[in-house]
Amino acid sequence: MECLFCKIVSGAVPSAKVFEDDRAVAFLDINPINPGHTLVVPKEHYPDLLSTPPDLAAHLMTVVQRVASAVLNAAGAKDFNLGLNHGAGAGQSVGHVHLHIMPRRPGDGHQLFSGKPYEAGEMEEMANSIRAKLK
Ligand code: AMP
Ligand code: ZN
Repeated sequence: MECLFCKIVSGAVPSAKVFEDDRAVAFLDINPINPGHTLVVPKEHYPDLLSTPPDLAAHLMTVVQRVASAVLNAAGAKDFNLGLNHGAGAGQSVGHVHLHIMPRRPGDGHQLFSGKPYEAGEMEEMANSIRAKLK
């Protein structure tokens, strides 16, 4: 069965589209963290970022730059988070790659990331491991 965002791209499922070009569509998230929360998706179906061809992934980022500027103007905000959930463990609920443009305001209460420092030696070990696995 065709996925939800493919149906939004084709118009089979209604959405509040704010931008469209030959390769991408942007539409309002139906459950925004703040007003203006927008999703940018490729027209072609790829399940996630790592399966998306690099030139298409790069194009999505140019769309983000263009659309985010308009979203901020319309939402009366000056800041935003750019989000991408990759896989169920990271909170991805729709299996069609998408970027979240999320307008933010100081004190809006959203807490996206909280970190803690590495133990001694672990940071260098992790950096070495990542370098060794780069293709
Ligand atoms: P993710 O959890 O990263 O996969 O994000 C999926 C997003 O799609 C969520 O923020 C949902 O609120 C949003 N969403 C789900 N259904 C629709 C829909 N019909 N129209 C617009 N946004 C949707
Ligand atoms: Zn799809």
